[in-house]
Amino acid sequence: MTPHALFDGIVHGQGMAQRRAMAKAITLLESTRADHRAQGDALLTALLPQTGKAFRMGLSGVPGVGKSTFIEALGLHLIAQGHRVAVLTIDPSSTVSGGSILGDKTRMEQLSVHERAFIRPSPSGGTLGGVAEKTREALLVCEAAGFDVVIVETVGVGQSETAVAAMTDCFVLLQLPNAGDDLQAIKKGVMEIADLVVINKADIDPDAATRARAMITSSLRLLGQHGRPEHAAHDTAHWHPTVMQLSALKAQGITAFWDEIERFRTLQTANGELAARRQRQARAWMWERIDAGLKQRFREHPAVRAALAATTTQVLAGQLPASTAARQLLALFD
Ligand code: GDP
Repeated sequence: MTPHALFDGIVHGQGMAQRRAMAKAITLLESTRADHRAQGDALLTALLPQTGKAFRMGLSGVPGVGKSTFIEALGLHLIAQGHRVAVLTIDPSSTVSGGSILGDKTRMEQLSVHERAFIRPSPSGGTLGGVAEKTREALLVCEAAGFDVVIVETVGVGQSETAVAAMTDCFVLLQLPNAGDDLQAIKKGVMEIADLVVINKADIDPDAATRARAMITSSLRLLGQHGRPEHAAHDTAHWHPTVMQLSALKAQGITAFWDEIERFRTLQTANGELAARRQRQARAWMWERIDAGLKQRFREHPAVRAALAATTTQVLAGQLPASTAARQLLALFD
């Protein structure tokens, strides 16, 4: 398909034909071939005016916490309300080993075959930054196709949570109802970027879930008192992260969850924070990709390539200060 046909299929297509055009466009955007990249850039630029209208929800949690069960329940609930739901995934294990924590597809059985849903597994290979870039672009494709809720899922291992929080309007952290789990999240700094913390599997032991909720609520209050880090996704002047409990398996608490999301969205839209957050994200994304692009060009530069090994050896042998080495190499690049 030409970029023009892809554009048409995404923006004007329907049903299976539209989803096929979306899948093809995303494959084009994932390609590393230079001519594909040029076509992909042209397509994205054309699609851009059609994007931005969806609510972008990030979701993370350790393997087994119930992410796919939750997405299935939430997705079906939203579709019943007339929404169209896209699910994208960033799987950090696929960037390192090609293996997958999130990949295999018995997940989201009903949602994956629903005509009002679009599910795309993680791009694999490359750096986390590269994978995140492709996911952001896929998100734009979904929006241009009229999917009005886009869920970006990742797993609570590795650095991918920050990447997901940096491309979504609301970052949701799914937790298990046992103590210790929340301490992990606090240690890793993930709790600090969450807009909403959800304790899943509350059906197993409702008392434990209630205790966990109280613990996490007070932990969040403590974090709040110490001020939020620079990279915190939200502005605490307007929103204090809330903690809820539900059962994804029994589809209990899903309505209350989405009500809370709507409350977040309404508030953050009214006070301008949602738009400001997207602007911050777009600026950061641009600089992230400039940094990555410059680094790649630097490594590929003939003079740098010729000198890099010897200079590195000198640094490792203690014959050249690292900072001097960096300056010398950068001078070659100029
Ligand atoms: P993921 O790895 O985070 O995607 O987790 P899954 O959605 O695959 O769920 C892992 C296991 O937990 C599965 O056996 C689910 O059936 C189960 N599970 C998920 N949510 C709930 C829940 O709310 N209650 C109970 N009892 N089990 C759940």
